[in-house]
Amino acid sequence: MAEFDPRNTTDGKDKELDGIIRPQELEDFTGQREIVQNLRVYIQAAKMRGETLDHTLFHGPPGLGKTTLAHIIANEMGVDMKISSGPVLDRPGDLAGLLISLKEGDVLFIDEIHRLSPEVEEYLYSAMEDFVIDIMIDKGPGARSVRIDVAPFTLVGATTRKGLLTAPLRARFGIDCALEYYDASDLERIVHRSAGILNIPIEDEAATEIALRSRGTPRIANSLLRRVRDFAQVMGSGTIDLKITRYALDKLHIDVRGLDSIDNRILDTIIGKFKGGPVGANTIATAIGEDQGTFEEVYEPFLIKEGYILRTQRGRIATDKAYEHLGIIKPKEENSLF
Ligand code: ADP
Repeated sequence: MAEFDPRNTTDGKDKELDGIIRPQELEDFTGQREIVQNLRVYIQAAKMRGETLDHTLFHGPPGLGKTTLAHIIANEMGVDMKISSGPVLDRPGDLAGLLISLKEGDVLFIDEIHRLSPEVEEYLYSAMEDFVIDIMIDKGPGARSVRIDVAPFTLVGATTRKGLLTAPLRARFGIDCALEYYDASDLERIVHRSAGILNIPIEDEAATEIALRSRGTPRIANSLLRRVRDFAQVMGSGTIDLKITRYALDKLHIDVRGLDSIDNRILDTIIGKFKGGPVGANTIATAIGEDQGTFEEVYEPFLIKEGYILRTQRGRIATDKAYEHLGIIKPKEENSLF
């Protein structure tokens, strides 16, 4: 059986449930308070002026609510949303087709926008700025470019890798929001809300436990809730209590602090292979089979936030908490007097 990865909810049934529990309005969106407050103002102002909302960029690690916020923007603006993603839009013609299909005010959501090809990105510039696209017709000597108007629209871009966006693309977003990991009390609220929608009886202590083990991420909280429900139904009373939650989470290999296998591998690499560091991000990334940027923007921020890793000029260092977490006694400093 494949290892359970709470970061991914690719299963069809889970996707379907995702649609049901996804907040539809800013009111239902828990956490990210500053972003929510600001968006409320921007949306209201745009509506008062009868304008489209400015192009908006959401960036941050996976599962924190970027796609959800894009849906909410379209909902609150009362417009339709078309969805695509960087890797899918690989030819300018695909983008042109999509842009032409937009009605005034619509939202175009492009996920993984850092993965757009430079050619497609070029096209996007004029669409974002002047709401026109220049399409090449024919090839060879007969080739000519035709300018086509597109209806004013709002581009909502989402990325886990803001560092990979080109400066010209970044500059064309009027609204730029960095999503942060959620604290346990917000995640607890999210777990209760999802459980309520899905009709899952859950005790407060159990919701707290799931929240604490969700790596600061709503997608993981929802995913764990659904898996724990399975255990509660088959092996327990149907109600999710603390005992069945702990049992299920252990079976899913989610450790007591919510770190998953990749997190633990990162700590293990720094401590086991590099004596606790300092070690370069590139080296750690290679050891876990990722590229440096993904390590820095997707995996590392949570470990830094939770105090397992320090980022120094000479590289990453494992903290005492990391040693304690892995149950390894930290060797004394070589130049220590004791
Ligand atoms: P991203 O696009 O950042 O990867 P999503 O928007 O797809 O993340 O969110 C992942 C899941 O988490 C969705 O099922 C969504 O319902 C849930 N979710 C995300 N943020 C929140 C939130 N603030 N409140 C409630 N549920 C949330």
